[in-house]
Amino acid sequence: METSPIKQQRNLVTELPGPNSKDLERRRSAAVAPGVSSVFPVYVREASGAILVDVDGNSLIDLGAGIAVTSVGHAAPAVVDAVQAQIARFAHTCFMISPYELYVAVCEALNALAPGDQPKRSALFNSGAEAVENAVKIARHVTGRQAVVVFDHAYHGRTNLTMALTAKNMPYREKFGPFAPEVYRVPMSYPFRDPDGMTGEQAAARATEQIERQVGADNVACVLIEPIQGEGGFIVPAPGFLPAIAAWCHDRGVLLAADEIQTGFCRTGDWFACEFEGIVPDLLTTAKAMAGGMPLAAVTGRADLVDVVHSGGLGGTYGGNPAACAAALAAIDTMRNEDLAVAARDIGDTVVARLGPLQASYPCIGDIRGRGAMIALELVRPGTMEPDAEAAKRIVQACHRAGVVVLSCGSYGNVIRLLPPLVIEEELLADGLDVLAGAIGEVLSAPAS
Ligand SMILES: *Cc1c(COP(=O)(O)O)cnc(C)c1O
Repeated sequence: METSPIKQQRNLVTELPGPNSKDLERRRSAAVAPGVSSVFPVYVREASGAILVDVDGNSLIDLGAGIAVTSVGHAAPAVVDAVQAQIARFAHTCFMISPYELYVAVCEALNALAPGDQPKRSALFNSGAEAVENAVKIARHVTGRQAVVVFDHAYHGRTNLTMALTAKNMPYREKFGPFAPEVYRVPMSYPFRDPDGMTGEQAAARATEQIERQVGADNVACVLIEPIQGEGGFIVPAPGFLPAIAAWCHDRGVLLAADEIQTGFCRTGDWFACEFEGIVPDLLTTAKAMAGGMPLAAVTGRADLVDVVHSGGLGGTYGGNPAACAAALAAIDTMRNEDLAVAARDIGDTVVARLGPLQASYPCIGDIRGRGAMIALELVRPGTMEPDAEAAKRIVQACHRAGVVVLSCGSYGNVIRLLPPLVIEEELLADGLDVLAGAIGEVLSAPAS
């Protein structure tokens, strides 16, 4: 197939969506389950770095990276080479039947990178939800306890157990029950919405007091937490919250499972978001950015815990697919060689420097928060804490019309989040942020009546 290098530049040649995208959208509505929706029905033909080229020849800036997946960039050369070479060697044997080195190498890499220097073991799966399910399986098996504690605004996936773990009803849980039992939800530290002056320690005590009263610490297998919540609204807990939760878990023999599926692999400016406050989880779930766009997920945990699970108790047909493993090794190398953790911090600084000053002109921007290349704006009605999902939606749509892919999130749908590829070029990021700033100006100075 003929390919020309894709310029890292936004360029629109039709309205968005263009005529070819509209044709595909018609085919789609006749063929694809409508329950699977797309936020922006512009069909992609090819992609590179932080640019998506659509089927009409438009070049769009991708500030979502397919939900924090293509951190090393679209079609990252090292990933493409590794996958192509591996597919030509063999695509599948099933690691549980005939093992291969790539699976072992990915586990070695994960064990070395995951927080803490205790001996670790890993197991590989296909999706984030599957990794979370397996972390819970391990925690229950090892502790002999059943309860799993999760937080308000949490997102852990769409399978039956992970729907139960996820906080938001619409669209994730609506009429999909009954849900898995023994899941308990406690308040998250949410500095923007918590009482003024509430410290991380106080927010942790609010949560652990509730666990002790409603569940009983002795019944809890694990506390499962995103160190920075993703889908829930890029909620960064107050300093001291995570260490206090970790200490409570440690004292009560409760395992701490960190879901770093969205935050992991350099996104927040460290390999893992837990590192920021020196948290060492007992179990860690990863996926999204790990394999540069290929489906791969993992549980990494303390060896003395993971080793308790009987032989054959964990696995799956495709888990640790050879091409996905090859992609992961290439993506991890790229992150290390190109120092993408530092790149993530630089992106965060750039985003905050560009968007921060807008807060003074637009009181609807209630909060700008996040860490590294994971920054969000929370929109409220001016002078209140009332979420303004409509404004978020209109800003996102204005960005889309201008050829910049941004995503919304949040329990109230009022958060605009940025998750650019970590390799995005400075000028391209600046252009994307200008478009976002322009969209904010357009929508917030002319509020819908
Ligand atoms: C995306 C996500 C998941 C689910 O991953 P899938 O691959 O979509 O199953 C779980 N936890 C967090 C924190 C996520 O961001």
